Amino acid sequence: MTMPAPLVLIVEDEPAQREVLAYNLEAEGYRVNQSENGEEALLMATEDRPDVIVLDWMLPNVSGIEVCRQLKTRSDMRAVPIIMLSARSEEVDRVRGLETGADDYVVKPYSIVELMARVKSQLRRSRPAALGEVLEFADIRLDAETHKVTRGENLLKLGPTEFRLLATFMEKPGRVWSREQLLDRVWGRDIYVDSRTVDVHIGRLRKALCLFGGEDLLRTVRGAGYALG
Ligand code: CA
Repeated sequence: MTMPAPLVLIVEDEPAQREVLAYNLEAEGYRVNQSENGEEALLMATEDRPDVIVLDWMLPNVSGIEVCRQLKTRSDMRAVPIIMLSARSEEVDRVRGLETGADDYVVKPYSIVELMARVKSQLRRSRPAALGEVLEFADIRLDAETHKVTRGENLLKLGPTEFRLLATFMEKPGRVWSREQLLDRVWGRDIYVDSRTVDVHIGRLRKALCLFGGEDLLRTVRGAGYALG
């Protein structure tokens, strides 16, 4: 079992455009959530944190700009990349778009190939392991494509759950993950697993990482969860 596929949230009020985009993203293997307005998008992002958001500028009621601004002021959402779509190509709009904290900006009508490339480029930053990149932290090296993990010169043998745990930690070194967040990311939110199961697998991962010696890099943060480094 590999990492859960990256989740893309599409916020677009025009059904045809939304569906074409969803179709193409799903064909690429991504999970997709769709929203047709700003209020719903804010709720959806909170409920099921996306790895990237494709956000239309012109939406009824709460505009895309406002959604972007609100998400970028929240500490739990700031790191989620946002690609803004706009029908207006004037330079001033571009500047305003970037001032809201949007990570990228695409003018309509866009080529689907181009937009997919932009999505992928944002995901490469936010979910490198899910895209098969090589991750490194201290002397640990994880190749998400071949599933090979080494520490220094030693090849480490990890079970599938420990591999996904390590990949999650290595995507965001230093980030503190709660047990619930790890359950969502590593086990998937549809599966019921006791949160103590997380502790068991953390224990196994810790043992595997230190099998050939070296510092214990997995940190237990009391009352909060776990972090790498
Ligand atoms: Ca629109």
